Amino acid sequence: MIRTRFAPSPTGPLHLGHAYSAILAHDMARTGGGAFLLRIEDIDRARARPEWEALILEDLAWLGLAWDGPVMRQSERMDSYEAALDRLWDTGLLYPCTCSRRDIAEALAAPQEGAGPAMGPDGPVYPGTCRPATPPTGPRPETAHLRLDMGRAMARLGPAPWFEETGPAHAGRIPIDPATACAEIGDIVLARRDMGTSYHLSVVVDDAEQRITHVTRGEDLFEATRIHVILQRLLDLPTPLYHHHRLIRDEQGKRLAKRDDARAIRLYRAEGVPPPEIRRMVGL
Ligand code: GLU
Ligand code: ZN
Repeated sequence: MIRTRFAPSPTGPLHLGHAYSAILAHDMARTGGGAFLLRIEDIDRARARPEWEALILEDLAWLGLAWDGPVMRQSERMDSYEAALDRLWDTGLLYPCTCSRRDIAEALAAPQEGAGPAMGPDGPVYPGTCRPATPPTGPRPETAHLRLDMGRAMARLGPAPWFEETGPAHAGRIPIDPATACAEIGDIVLARRDMGTSYHLSVVVDDAEQRITHVTRGEDLFEATRIHVILQRLLDLPTPLYHHHRLIRDEQGKRLAKRDDARAIRLYRAEGVPPPEIRRMVGL
């Protein structure tokens, strides 16, 4: 049975881009007789607000997108993220990092002219300053970022992981080559010092917990999916099918951001725009 989800962060109002994502996931589940789940991604306690969550639920109801089962909230799932981190720590795949953004920028300041540092899904690829020669032992530290040792992780996995993509831009089987993962993703942070987890770790643990079979989300997350598939393999979790959809853009061709209040669903709602009109506006 198909199980899809919509996983907004309650850090601002939903706009047309979110509506498109939610409608696609909802319709995919409903046409297949499956389930559509809702997950609130509120691990960033500094930016997440209950008011935004309340508005998201109202907007979804207004759009006619009813979800199945209880709403999952990431802020209530720290125990599960810690269990996953413990497991990765115990197998020697994580290490603590105390670098600031500035330290990283300085370590990357190119000695040679021309090509800048490689950019990964989370910004510049980490130069490896804190990476130990042998895996750290002892209890998992809680006062530093924890990074994934990508070289060690890929070596652990054996045959290169891959995922199946059905979105318009990259449809097909997407392999994740170990050398490319090290060069283009690198040692990403899996537990942020200030959060105790990260988007990547939480999304992987939760998609498994909600038994999601089809992940529908924006094309902007396509590169991040490689990280998620690597984590699924490391944690023995199933890999869903992925569908990365086109991004909704404004008249200037710029993709919408959370702060694009001008296209907030609540404003269309307040103006009396009928919900089916939103489907038309996003090209459905
Ligand atoms: N919470 C993420 C966002 O609002 C989406 C996560 C996902 O679909 O994997 O952009
Ligand atoms: Zn470091």
